[in-house]
Amino acid sequence: MMIVDCACDVEIATDLANYLRNHGFDAKSEEASVIINEENVWQILKLFLKETNRSGYNIRRIDSTNLLLAREVPIEDFGFLRCEMCGYVVSNEEELLTHRRAHGIQLL
Ligand SMILES: [Zn+2]
Repeated sequence: MMIVDCACDVEIATDLANYLRNHGFDAKSEEASVIINEENVWQILKLFLKETNRSGYNIRRIDSTNLLLAREVPIEDFGFLRCEMCGYVVSNEEELLTHRRAHGIQLL
């Protein structure tokens, strides 16, 4: 089983789950995550991004069951903060802390 965290993007999670089901995978979305009953999902995720023209997105491996799908945005000019785990962008420190908790990892 693999879990794809879509970095708070419920829309892409829903699209991805539908795409996977259309390609014969057993997948479901839960808020901004997609749970897939399949180990080898890297290629199909790449195909999803390509076929849905989501060229600004990247897939990262967090650990053996967790992948992260997030958009790369140039933010440095705007004074925003970027999550160092997935590249998700927030506008202040508090949002960043909240977002990091979504990864299920406590950072000191
Ligand atoms: Zn993150």
